[in-house]
Amino acid sequence: MKRLILLVTFIFFGIFFTACDTKSEHPDVVTTMFVHYDIVRQLADDYLTVELLIPLGADVHSFEATSKDIVKIKNAKLFLFTSLELDTWIQDEKTIGGDQTVVVNMSQSYELDLEIVDEHDELHYWVDPIIFTQMIDYVLDHLLLIDPEHADHYQRNANLYKQQVLDLHNDFITSSLSQSTLYFAGHNAFGLFGLRYDLTFVSLFPEFKPDDDLTSQEIISFSNAIREAQTTFLFSEALIEPKAAKAIQNHLRTQNYQLSLLELHTYHNVSQSDWNQKITYADLFARNIDQLKQGLGVRDND
Ligand SMILES: [Zn+2]
Repeated sequence: MKRLILLVTFIFFGIFFTACDTKSEHPDVVTTMFVHYDIVRQLADDYLTVELLIPLGADVHSFEATSKDIVKIKNAKLFLFTSLELDTWIQDEKTIGGDQTVVVNMSQSYELDLEIVDEHDELHYWVDPIIFTQMIDYVLDHLLLIDPEHADHYQRNANLYKQQVLDLHNDFITSSLSQSTLYFAGHNAFGLFGLRYDLTFVSLFPEFKPDDDLTSQEIISFSNAIREAQTTFLFSEALIEPKAAKAIQNHLRTQNYQLSLLELHTYHNVSQSDWNQKITYADLFARNIDQLKQGLGVRDND
């Protein structure tokens, strides 16, 4: 009988520990945003466990860490956060980690080679792929710090990932677009992206919240602006129900003006299905390029 109880106990704990396996109680690396999570995952493969704090699909701007999250940060070897402006729940970066935690503010990971017009643009620094390659290097430096044993592996993956992003970047700058102005029914996240590629993003409002309901007067004036510009494409933001964009599309349809909706991804977070498919920043960048080429028209040079 004693032996049976022992066996049952073993089986119970066996199942218990297997179930916990998918999300480590003590991840080596903790990140607040998808972009940084993505870099660690691409570089580390299975050598380090990494966890993204924000729930899938949730809004980065209003996220706050739970006390359980704070414990994970304190137990981690490395904690990467977006910035003190976005992660407003971090009051002091010196005390957020544990004794052994390397705490990294990723907004200090790059040097900008662009002439900034609006300093708010830097809030969404990661949308610029050139900055993203610098972020890869910065994460690499810190992985080498916490796990020098697998340096070659991390270095090799970092080079491959940077090249993948640079290939997409080069493809995009060499494609000649028919237009450079696009209408965007999303929040003001693409400033640096626009600056990098000489694209003008016309947002519906300067402080636009994409899930807001528009007044009928607003729908009319935005619809008129789109008609005047003779554009037949309106970009909306991935992960957010495009209520405003659809209202404008419907209004223009009553005037026999066909407007097609396209989607841009701001990389803040990913959907469950993208997560399941292990979609990367590079994949999302490729998706954006495809949508931009459709909306802005690629001139045929032949
Ligand atoms: Zn944002």
